[in-house]
Parts: sequence; structure tokens; C-alpha cells
Amino acid sequence: MERPYVMAQNGNVENGSAAQTHTQSQRYLSTRGEDYGLSFEEVVLKGLATDGGLYIPEAIPDASSSWRSWKDLSYPELALEILSLYISPSEIPRADLKDVVDRSYSTFRTKDVTPLVHLQDRQYLLELFHGPTFAFKDVALQFLGNLFEYFLVRKNKGKTGKDRHHLTVVGATSGDTGSAAIYGLRGKKDVSVFIMFPKGRVSPIQELQMTTVPDKNVHNLSIAGTFDDCQDILKSILADGDANKSLNLGAVNSINWARILAQIVYYFHSYFSLVKSKSDFELGDRVRFVVPSGNFGDILAGYFAMRMGLPVDKLVIATNENDILDRFWKSGKYEKKKAQGADAAGGLVVDGVLAHEDGVKETLSPAMDILVSSNFERLLWFLAYEFAASAGMDDLWNKKQAGQEVSKWLKELKTTGSFGPVYQDVLKYAKRDFESERVDDTETIETIQDLYRKVGYVLDPHTAVGVTATLRSVSRAGPGVHHISLSTAHPAKFSGAVDMALREEEAFDFEKQVLPTEFIGLDKKEKRVSDVENDWQKVRDLVKAQVEQELSEA
Ligand SMILES: *Cc1c(COP(=O)(O)O)cnc(C)c1O
Repeated sequence: MERPYVMAQNGNVENGSAAQTHTQSQRYLSTRGEDYGLSFEEVVLKGLATDGGLYIPEAIPDASSSWRSWKDLSYPELALEILSLYISPSEIPRADLKDVVDRSYSTFRTKDVTPLVHLQDRQYLLELFHGPTFAFKDVALQFLGNLFEYFLVRKNKGKTGKDRHHLTVVGATSGDTGSAAIYGLRGKKDVSVFIMFPKGRVSPIQELQMTTVPDKNVHNLSIAGTFDDCQDILKSILADGDANKSLNLGAVNSINWARILAQIVYYFHSYFSLVKSKSDFELGDRVRFVVPSGNFGDILAGYFAMRMGLPVDKLVIATNENDILDRFWKSGKYEKKKAQGADAAGGLVVDGVLAHEDGVKETLSPAMDILVSSNFERLLWFLAYEFAASAGMDDLWNKKQAGQEVSKWLKELKTTGSFGPVYQDVLKYAKRDFESERVDDTETIETIQDLYRKVGYVLDPHTAVGVTATLRSVSRAGPGVHHISLSTAHPAKFSGAVDMALREEEAFDFEKQVLPTEFIGLDKKEKRVSDVENDWQKVRDLVKAQVEQELSEA
């Protein structure tokens, strides 16, 4: 099927000279239609659109005639090619972008940045955890940190003292995002970073990763509450006009477009790695990607890669028991919670297990414990656009329709807790590109055990959710289809689940086989963290005070 909404990247090549190639400048619009025509810099610094939507490019660049030529590029070279299709050179000159990209990936422990390893049969693992904090979020947050720095250096050229533009990044984390954001922003000039985490509810290693960073611009806030409390505090602070103005707030959570953008690169990179491996896979063959998903940011990058022209057979969503995405693909209905009954005390019971009041279930793959997937809104826009385009009107009308449809769905979700079922055709488009699987904790543990016994590889629980989904996908697609499972975290970050799965194995030794040297001795380092009450105004005031103090010491 011919797909709309892909623009030719190279325009007219006059006189056959590459130097004359004209690249249309890339602009961004909001999924809710009220905010459009923005530059890349604006969308990166703003994070969320003014109409409450998320930013997407006005056109997905068509790389179908150029992607094959990228096969032998190094990771940073490939990143430069892909990113420059989304960032106009008039905004960031190519040499500057190259410098930002090179610095972002020089902090990874492997030259390949995201190596592809063979698991078994035609199944591969894409290891995304070789960055500073041992989880896939580093791939995007190393880049985002350097981007913030680049924009600030540019804004502050020749300025001193109070005239300098200062950015305060505030984030809430249940573990992985916080440390990755801190490592992306530590030591950067004119940026302060504040990370809130629920006191006593992140894993010891995650907490140490955050609190042992010595840089003065890093501030950890241990909140007496849950992760949801931290998110509520964040929302209140972001919505506080006064704080927003005086602090100039920036966002690093996965709604930031730059994070999705950076993640597109490893889909192409791993595809080329597969071509270059000794397998029977050739340039042009189709592959399946399987992605352990929570907020839908990682897999959405795969969707962009596919739309740019990468031969993807299917993108397979793997969820844990927090399965709102899986239920959407099965029913066309997007529904906040699936309460199966309330217990006597009034708490919510999901699948027989007492859940948080809001319906999130705690699982062994906590980075995927979500109620709604924020980036799903971006896919919804493209589905709605395609639906509108099938009526054959002009592009402007289609975009307007898509924005209106998405606004309607999201409003319904907010007021009633669900929307849908969506039109049959919308679901049909979703199913053409994606499949989905839901994996419970028992299966997760079994997969960690099975793979360890079979091939000696230790999976982290998130990756194990993905590998379980891969096995099911193989049984549907057949053994001839190549699968790449995204490995989103190093197993040492989630030692509890790994220990639960493997402690009975005779020869297994966590410290020898799993624990990276970087984690040893972290607990001996000095810790920097402030305890704060679960009260957004107290948090806001503390943030203000710490920023002032930091600036006065600078
Ligand atoms: C964040 C995270 C995920 C989920 O990624 P999304 O982009 O939110 O779908 C999966 N695994 C790990 C280890 C993570 O940190």
C-alpha cells in the first residue's frame, strides 16, 4: 500500500550536482493540532506542546533511496546521517551536529555503541545498555544533554551574570530515567538538574547511581511518597506559571522529541549489523523487532525507522502485566485500568494481586509499569492521519482532521478513563505495522532461566519480557524470519529478579558473571540527596533555593 505523509528529502537536484541539493527545512507540529510550524530547538526546549499535545515532524523523511548506502557507517556517522534529516542545517550546522553526536556516543563502553549479539537460531539481541548508566535510556539522554548544552552555549554567547539563560530540568523517576538524565546533564554549564524519586522505592543500585554523582548542578530529591506522587509534583510545578518563568523549566521525560529521534538510529544500525553477521540475512530482507514497552518511546522510534524505509516486517510490542497497549491491539479500545474487582479494604485488585490505587501493578520489570503510554499519542496521530488521507482530501485537511481526532480521543481518556473502540480502519493500520504480546512475571522468570540454561546468557527482566514475546512471534511468523529483541537494561541493574530466577543454578555466580566493576564500591562514595515532604510547593521552593545557591557559587 502506498503511504501518504512521506516527503522527498532531496527536492530537485538541479544540474545533477549534489552541492545544489536542496533540503526542505524540517518543522514540527503538535499531535493536537493547535501548535505548528515550530523549529527543532523550540520543540526540544519546550518538551510538551502548548495545547497539551506532543511534537512530531511535519513530514517523515523518505530515506528509501538512500538508506542502503549507510550500511558501513560507524554508529556516530550513521547517527549524523539520520539526525540531519530531522534537523535543518540552518538550525544546527552539520559540523556542529557532528560534534554533538560524536561527544554523545564517546561515553559508551563499546565502539559499536549498540552491539548486536546472537541469541539462538535466527534470534538476536540488540544490547542497548553500554552507556554510563547501563540502560537504553542513555542512548537518548546522552544526546539530549549535549543538545541542551549546545543551545545554551549559543544563547549565552557574550553574556555574563544574570543575563545568561539558565535551564532548570526537573524530572520524576522510578529508577532508570533519573540516572540517565543525571549522567546526560552532569557538569553542563547553565543547566541544573533535579530528579525526584520515591524514597525507599527505587532499587539500591539505581539510588546509588543517582546520589553518588559529585557535580554541583545535580540535585537529588528523595520524596516521602510514591512514584505517582513524584509525577504529580512534577506536573504541578510545570503547571505553575510563576515557577516556570523564574526557573525556565525543561523536560527530559520520554515525551521529548529528541529522545525518540536519537533512538531511530539503532534500528538501522542493528539491521546493518545483522546483514554483516554471518547469517543468511541480506540487505533488503525484512526483520522483526521486538521491544519491551512501557511509555512507547522506544518502539515508536522503530516505527519512524520503518516509515523512513527500513525493511521491517513487524514491530512487536512486549508489555508486562500493565498491558494497556496489548489490550488496544486486541480490542481497539484504549482503557486506563482493567480492575477485576475491589478487595474488602477498597484497594484495587488486578489479576488477583493488590495493585496501587490507580491500577498500576508492580512487576519484575518496573520500568514498564505504567498506566498509560504517553508516546502512544504520537502513533495515534499517524493512524488518524492515514485514516483521514484515505478520504482523499488535501494534506492540510488531513493534518487538521488528525489533530482533531487525537484531541477528541485524549479528552475522552482524561474524562472517562478510556476511548474507543477506534474505527476498524485505524486498528487495521495499527495491526499492519505492529503485533503485541503480554508477558507475566512467571513467564519472565522462566525465560531468564531457560536462556541461561540453553545459551548461558543472563537476561534482565525487561529484556526477558521481550524475548518471551520473540519466542511467540517466531511460532507465528515461522523459523525463517529473523528477530531482533531489544535488550533494554544490564541484568545487574535488576539483580532482584535475576537472583530470583537463577539462584538455584549450581554454577551461577552473580558477582563473577553479572556484576560490572563500575557498580563495585558505589556504596562507599559520598551521597548527595535532600529529603523532601510529599508537597509540591515545598519541592518548588527547595528547587528555587538550590538553584539560587548553585548560581551564587558558580
Ligand atoms: C524505560 C524502559 C523501558 C520502556 O521503554 P519505553 O520507551 O517507555 O517503552 C523498558 N526497559 C527498560 C529497562 C527501561 O528503562
